[in-house]
Amino acid sequence: MRVLAMGCHPDDLEILCYGTLAKLAKRGDDVIISTIANGSMGDMVIPPKELAKIRHREATAAAKVIGAQEYIGVGIDDLALNPEDDEQIRRVTEVIRYARPDFIICHGADGYLDYHSDHNYAAEMTFTASFNATIPHYETKSPVHPVIAPLYYMHPTGPRPDFYITDYVDITDTLELKLEAFACHKSQFSWLGEHIGDSSLLDDVRDQARVHGKSCRCQYAEAFQRCTQAYRMTANRLLP
Ligand SMILES: [Zn+2]
Repeated sequence: MRVLAMGCHPDDLEILCYGTLAKLAKRGDDVIISTIANGSMGDMVIPPKELAKIRHREATAAAKVIGAQEYIGVGIDDLALNPEDDEQIRRVTEVIRYARPDFIICHGADGYLDYHSDHNYAAEMTFTASFNATIPHYETKSPVHPVIAPLYYMHPTGPRPDFYITDYVDITDTLELKLEAFACHKSQFSWLGEHIGDSSLLDDVRDQARVHGKSCRCQYAEAFQRCTQAYRMTANRLLP
C-alpha cells in the first residue's frame, strides 16, 4: 500500500502519528511524508527563512529514521496558510497526486478545532486537495489520482474529550523509533519550552502514547478518527 502523511508543521506528524508510520513502513508499505507549512515561525530569534531550511533538514532526517520513502515540504510559510488560496491548494494537490496514496493521515476531524490555526487550515486544505486530486480538469503537473483517498485524522496533542476516536494503533514496538524521529527536531525543543512553557516534550509524547495505550489495552498507542464522508470509507482496515 501507499500511504501519505500530510502534516502541518515539521514535527507535528512525529508527535501525533510517527509510531503508526514506522509500523506501516515495517510492514512494507510505501510511506511518503509531507508538511504544508515550512515551520518558519518556530523560533524566538532565528530568522524565518533560515529556520525553514533548518526544519526541512530536521524533517528529512526524521523521515529517514522510520524508513519513509521521502519527505516533501510544500513550503508555505507559517501563519500564511489559506484554504481559499487556489495556488496553495494546487501545491497540496500536486503532492497528493505525486504520492498516489491509498489513504492519507492528516489533521482534522468533523467540527473540531485544534489549538494552532495553521493545523486547522492544513486539515481543510488536505480535505479539499485530496478531492480535487481526482478531478481531471483540475490541472497540476502529476496525473489525476483515481481514488478519493480515505482520511484518518490524528488525535491532537493533549486530552481532547471532544475528539471522537474510532481507531487505535498499538505502537509499543515502534515507540522508540517515534521518539528518535521526534528528537531530530532539535530546533523545537528550546522554542516550545520558551513559547508554551513545555520543557519535557519527549516525556509528554511518551505519556500521551501511554494514555492512548491504556484506553485500548496495550502499552503505547496512537489514536485516530476515520473520516466518514461519502466515498471516503472502505470495507477494509487500512491502519496497521
Ligand atoms: Zn504544528
